[in-house]
Amino acid sequence: MKGRPLILGAGPAGAMAAIMLGRAGAEPILIDRDAIVGDALCGGFLSWRSAERLRGIGLGLPDIGAHPVTRLALYAGKAEAHAELPETGYGLSRRGFDTAMRALAVSSGAELQIDRIRQLSPGAAVGERQEWRSGSIFLAAGKHDVRGHSRPRQSDDPALGLRIRIPAQAGLTRLLGGKIELHLFPGGYAGIVCQEDGSANICLALRKSMLAAAGGDPRALLDRLAGEHPHFGQRMAFAASDLTIDSIGAVPYGFIAQGTQPGLFRLGDQAAVIPSLAGEGMSIALTSGAMAAKFWLEGGGGAAENYQRAMARAARRPVAVAKLIWETAESERFGQPLVRMAGLAPWLTNLAMRASRIAA
Ligand SMILES: Cc1cc2nc3c(=O)[nH]c(=O)nc-3n(C[C@H](O)[C@H](O)[C@H](O)COP(=O)(O)OP(=O)(O)OC[C@H]3O[C@@H](n4cnc5c(N)ncnc54)[C@H](O)[C@@H]3O)c2cc1C
Repeated sequence: MKGRPLILGAGPAGAMAAIMLGRAGAEPILIDRDAIVGDALCGGFLSWRSAERLRGIGLGLPDIGAHPVTRLALYAGKAEAHAELPETGYGLSRRGFDTAMRALAVSSGAELQIDRIRQLSPGAAVGERQEWRSGSIFLAAGKHDVRGHSRPRQSDDPALGLRIRIPAQAGLTRLLGGKIELHLFPGGYAGIVCQEDGSANICLALRKSMLAAAGGDPRALLDRLAGEHPHFGQRMAFAASDLTIDSIGAVPYGFIAQGTQPGLFRLGDQAAVIPSLAGEGMSIALTSGAMAAKFWLEGGGGAAENYQRAMARAARRPVAVAKLIWETAESERFGQPLVRMAGLAPWLTNLAMRASRIAA
């Protein structure tokens, strides 16, 4: 007797596990802290690997209005390079994506509960509303650590995430339509993509020291980058000064959970955090959700250790490749040469894009 699995977090990883477990008749309980789906800070680019996984569970991204993306554009200083994506990716807001995934989880047989989990110990998750007990817990709280299970921070000057959304405008759509753009700066990058409603999602990962140097004011930092980097400045010219800027601190890029405790399956960003410029975090989350469900269906809570080892193996190559690209891209010395090389050798860009995907 396996008992009902408990899934903490209804982002891409938790929802995917809930869909697979629900369809297999396991009656999972899916807990999220938010009753209303928010628009999580994210670049909003779903890679072709994500799209493939989603087609496998009957969710077609074009059917929910996602913006098709067929080209990559890279910018650093005055250098620029363009490449075809190996296959079509999509731009979609997290509100749109997470809403679709949650609905599919519920229609697949998962029970959705709203509670904020405060603490996790073997077999028990203590929420604000009640204590939840199960021999099989799937930790899918993503970017937010739960007390007792924090991921180690690996840098004195960690990456932080910033995000600004620019409402749809014809001139902006002409610039961005059909592309995922990566603007490389010394100390970080900005990813830009159109979403389902024509708005542009600009998401940046930058060293914390850059924000400190801008007096802790995110808008001042974005305006400085826009002034120094003409391509980025051209996009930011569409951003009214009163737009909200969201932020998230200390992203543990490169983290891979090497082990776990009996009965605890770590999913998504709680299993592996790929540098976000690869645009593969959601794909890793979906893969981990499906993989954990498969291991659980075969071996119950006792399969947690084997699942975590298999997940760590699957994440190793894409995370290592993305980390190398990110470290090169954000360096003062190598950012521009990287873009020039991408322009001269599109086959190399294609290879890097493929090597930073998680295996299907
Ligand atoms: C700057 C930046 C840009 C990115 N851009 C991209 C991109 O373009 N493409 C891409 O594929 N990936 C991108 N990523 C990575 C991607 O956002 C993550 O890898 C992905 O969201 C992980 O999914 P998840 O389900 O593990 O966690 P999350 O998406 O973080 O979801 C976690 C869920 O758990 C819930 N939760 C959290 N804490 C609790 C709690 N205590 N109790 C109950 N519920 C809780 C949350 O409400 C949420 O619904 C980016 C990341 C960053 C930082």
